[in-house]
Amino acid sequence: SEQVETFEFQAEAQQLLQLMVHSIYSNKDVFLRELISNASDALDKLRLESFTDKDLQVDTSDLHIEIEVDREQRSLTVRDNGIGMSRSEVVQLIGTIAKSGTAELLAKVREAQESNAAELIGQFGVGFYSSFMVADRVSLLTRRAGEDEATRWESDGSGTYTVETVQEAPQGTAVTLWLKPEEAEDNLFDYASEAKIRELVQRYSDFITWPVRMEVERTAAEGGTERQVETLNSMKALWARSKDEVSDEEYAEFYKRVSRDWQDPLQTIAVQAEGTFEYQGLLFLPAHAPADLFAEDHRQGVQLYVKRVFVMDDCEALVPTYLRFVRGVVDAQDLSLNVSREILQQDRQITLMRRRLTKKVLSTIKNLMAEDTERYTTFWREFGAALKEGILSDPDNRDTILEIASFASTHDAEQLTTLQQYVERMGEDQRDIYYMTGSSRSVIESSPHIEAFRAKGYEVLLLTDPIDEVWVDSVPEFDGKPLRSIAKGEVDLDSEEDKAAEPEREQRQEEFSELLSWMTTLLGEQVKEVRLSSRLTTSPACLVSGADEMTPTMEKLYRAMGQ
Ligand code: ADP
Ligand code: MG
Repeated sequence: SEQVETFEFQAEAQQLLQLMVHSIYSNKDVFLRELISNASDALDKLRLESFTDKDLQVDTSDLHIEIEVDREQRSLTVRDNGIGMSRSEVVQLIGTIAKSGTAELLAKVREAQESNAAELIGQFGVGFYSSFMVADRVSLLTRRAGEDEATRWESDGSGTYTVETVQEAPQGTAVTLWLKPEEAEDNLFDYASEAKIRELVQRYSDFITWPVRMEVERTAAEGGTERQVETLNSMKALWARSKDEVSDEEYAEFYKRVSRDWQDPLQTIAVQAEGTFEYQGLLFLPAHAPADLFAEDHRQGVQLYVKRVFVMDDCEALVPTYLRFVRGVVDAQDLSLNVSREILQQDRQITLMRRRLTKKVLSTIKNLMAEDTERYTTFWREFGAALKEGILSDPDNRDTILEIASFASTHDAEQLTTLQQYVERMGEDQRDIYYMTGSSRSVIESSPHIEAFRAKGYEVLLLTDPIDEVWVDSVPEFDGKPLRSIAKGEVDLDSEEDKAAEPEREQRQEEFSELLSWMTTLLGEQVKEVRLSSRLTTSPACLVSGADEMTPTMEKLYRAMGQ
């Protein structure tokens, strides 16, 4: 071989490297994800270049990634037959950090506490240098497609690296890590074990479009063991394929994997966005609610991928809390692999994405409602109570949620009704949409409040979810009809005919005034006023709240919350 040249890392690269050597980033596992993602990029680039450059003589018939473990030497090699790098590219790409803002960011990292430092690093990605979290020596052998000479780069992660030109090497790049001795002590973290590699590839790189192969030990048919090359990743990124190429079974299988559910999904929602911020998504409405839907530490169900590489579970930045039951995957093109939750929450593009995904989920539910009542009803019974939280928390979509919501009602003992259907049934003399909240349908139905409404043939919505107590106060009307609690204040139920009898009632009020004021004094603190009512038909008395006061259920709710 030729002369070996020694270079110093650019100052910023050196700082980043130091952080890696000292393992500031807590999840060391990600080094493999980074190397595989680089290899995958290199294969993408080669394929593209072979299309655009007709003179480039390359074989693209078997583009792939290979992982090789040498247990004796305790080394690990990730190899690709992609685009490769020229000597000057190696110096430029591996020896420096070209990304803008790196210096400022590193200055912040230096001042930050250790835990924050990891977050900050996540903003620009740990990349190739993450190899130094697990290795004390890294070497890279690469030959660029179309060139004859190859380059070997090597470093122990301190201030310098060496570069030499090599005559013979396969096209593409091989990165070899000599694992740190401490990585061997704990089997769980032994990156030189096939089981560990397999686990990491399946966790982080399963949907990489290129095969990731490894020679593994297998039980042979005739007994004993044999070595055999296996593809570790499934490569099936269903979200990237057009809908009519994917069968329902494939969607269902994928859903079960990402959701850890054993049932088929109720509905599959495919999302594709092109333009400046490109992403693809595959979301699912499950067929049944998880047990922890209303628990405080409930899980959010959407995973974030960046260019087919798994980045995080339960990504709360992608869908609002009231859609926490939605499961699936969103794959974005232009994010750092190490993007943090905090960054996602502030990112404008992510906010737009979230808005779009939310609309898509809501419109899917709306379609279900119009086209498949049975499935819509299943959905609503399982998740309606969660969705209604959005009436309050998502003013932009409030009207849509009200449209797709269903409620129990006195109209039908079994079937739920929508607000629209209620309005269509309203008689000419009815101006308001009547509702009553309570802990259950039977409790509300046996309440004396409802008697007069039943007698008059007015329909009353029976709202039994705790959240109902809260949103009704924020929704003044639907379709121009005010929403009105029958348990609050004076509800004027009198028709024209009844109004004629008004003087008579006043007279009766007069007659009973002594009794009424006696009762008011007697009940003292417990009530504000006792008055004659036109509401009741069979019950002798009932309690009502003032128009602006809490309903009894609401009081209970607040009491339960310790207020
Ligand atoms: P990033 O992938 O975010 O650009 P990395 O630190 O992972 O940052 O890699 C730096 C650069 O080195 C890449 O952009 C690429 O140009 C080059 N590189 C790394 N690995 C390979 C590889 N296997 N084949 C070709 N080029 C590579
Ligand atoms: Mg990279």
